[in-house]
Amino acid sequence: MTAPRRRNGLAVDAILRRCEGKKRYPDEMTCKAAGMHYIGIGQTRQLWCYPCKLCRGWHLTKQNNGPRNAIHKLLTNDALVHGGQDGTNEAADD
Ligand SMILES: [Zn+2]
Repeated sequence: MTAPRRRNGLAVDAILRRCEGKKRYPDEMTCKAAGMHYIGIGQTRQLWCYPCKLCRGWHLTKQNNGPRNAIHKLLTNDALVHGGQDGTNEAADD
């Protein structure tokens, strides 16, 4: 086996996983809106967004990316507030 093909210093399969194999969103708000939709229809329960250095767009991931990018937290704050299990410590996160 030779070294994997690379582009911009990244293995091509990593580019596919992180960028080209995913849906691209032009900005953070669009990405978060799409993520909220996926959570809303029950396709997944937790989603994070991240800015992509490869295409300069945004993508969704199921890997924990930090509270700032956690889309499901937006939903629990805005739309699904009922019990407020963890609503009180949100402000302390930032
Ligand atoms: Zn990308």
